[in-house]
Amino acid sequence: MWLRSLHPRILSPSLSRLHYHPTRACLRFYSDATTKSAPPPPITKVEKLVLDSIKATGPIPFATYMQLCLSHPTHGYYTNPNHAVFGTRGDFTTSPEISQVFGEIIGIWFLSQWVSAGKPERVRLVELGPGRGTLMSDILRVISQVTKSVNPVRAVHLVETSRPLREQQAVVLERRVASRSNLHWHDAVDEVPPAPDTYTMLVAHEFFDALPVHVLQKTQQGWNEVLVASSLEPLKDPRRAESTTPDSTDLDSETAPDSAMVYPRLRRVLSPAPTGISTVLGASSPRFQAMAEGTTIEVSPAAYRIGRKVGEMVAGGKRETGVDEAAVENNVKGTVGGCGLIVDYGGAKVHEDSFRAFKNHEIVDVFHRPGECDLTTNVDFAFLSEAMGDLVKTHGPISQRTFLTRMGLDVRMEALALAAEGDKEREGGLKTAAKRLVDPLGMGAEYRFMGITSGKEADEVWPFVEQLG
Ligand code: SAH
Repeated sequence: MWLRSLHPRILSPSLSRLHYHPTRACLRFYSDATTKSAPPPPITKVEKLVLDSIKATGPIPFATYMQLCLSHPTHGYYTNPNHAVFGTRGDFTTSPEISQVFGEIIGIWFLSQWVSAGKPERVRLVELGPGRGTLMSDILRVISQVTKSVNPVRAVHLVETSRPLREQQAVVLERRVASRSNLHWHDAVDEVPPAPDTYTMLVAHEFFDALPVHVLQKTQQGWNEVLVASSLEPLKDPRRAESTTPDSTDLDSETAPDSAMVYPRLRRVLSPAPTGISTVLGASSPRFQAMAEGTTIEVSPAAYRIGRKVGEMVAGGKRETGVDEAAVENNVKGTVGGCGLIVDYGGAKVHEDSFRAFKNHEIVDVFHRPGECDLTTNVDFAFLSEAMGDLVKTHGPISQRTFLTRMGLDVRMEALALAAEGDKEREGGLKTAAKRLVDPLGMGAEYRFMGITSGKEADEVWPFVEQLG
């Protein structure tokens, strides 16, 4: 999904109505109410729900908007079976779909951690947001090839809300496990059961970027929240008594449109005062406290909560809530814990304006066709590290290029080229794919790897060494 990782500079507030065309490499304005020649597209199911909710109770947080658009049980972007989410026919392509070496190298890293942990007898794999199941399939294949008859994998836990994607995952993964009963699906990360006697290998690739964020803006009064309001209601000056939105400041437009043809039908407003949520989230990281007035930040409490749970799972044993302490004490190896990799675009910092929407490999307005476009934000890896830092060790993030190169991408590619047995077309395809994964001007730089270990291993874990990412 490389396009989703476009540098946020392109997405600064003044350009929020830009739409990026990758082949022509040009930016053009998304047509708005005053300039368009065609009528606005018909209202989507999710759009109607959002507008009804705003009408009933007022502007809603961005997090609610994102949640409805992506995960509404039947009409959400990931949950609607009619959406071709991935691949050239879909809206984006992800690294595991580009080349099998991506998953293989992740599998090798897992195995190296497992060996350092003393090869615990039982292993489980946990993946958050497995998409088409490609990454997990590649990881399982390499683990089975390397460990052969002593393959320690006992269970695979997949955290996936989308029913259609679960079906695709089942088809791909069934042949990689001893029995179908080893595959377990969960709606939420909290549902993955504790396993104090089992080593956990956890991966989340392009999962955290899909979690809902709240958008906060620092004002004289503290952190106020940027909310989603209807553009169909007359826009009024909030200082006037007759205003229909007396409690919020319009952030997108100074003038009221006089036509019901307005599009997009949603817009941003600023809450007139800090809300309960914005106050709590504004205090949720020491990094946010000293920020200057006027700063906007995207904060995901869901990412923090899930990050904490990831820490508990990787720490394993006593750290997991509700585990049988006796079972942990009886664990003869005493090394059971785990390791994890979180891979996504973003950095070790909070992002100001990375919220964006995708349709057919193009950036579109975040309020365009709600429920039919992918919505995403850059991941704040520092926030994830803060969430789990007292439970596990976190490493990096380092760039995808650094991770893959240091883990031996070239060697693996050579092996694959040899296996291509002179098929020049195949060899060329392999090379192009590998180049794309580590492109310093693209995926190689935009995507980051954060490592997680349960703390019994050395402080520095390869390839996460010395700020070389
Ligand atoms: N990891 C895959 C897919 C990334 S797309 C790849 O890289 O190819 C995001 C995935 O997360 C999809 O499978 C989507 O259905 C799932 N997802 C999104 N939000 C989720 C949530 N809140 N809980 C569980 N799964 C979610």
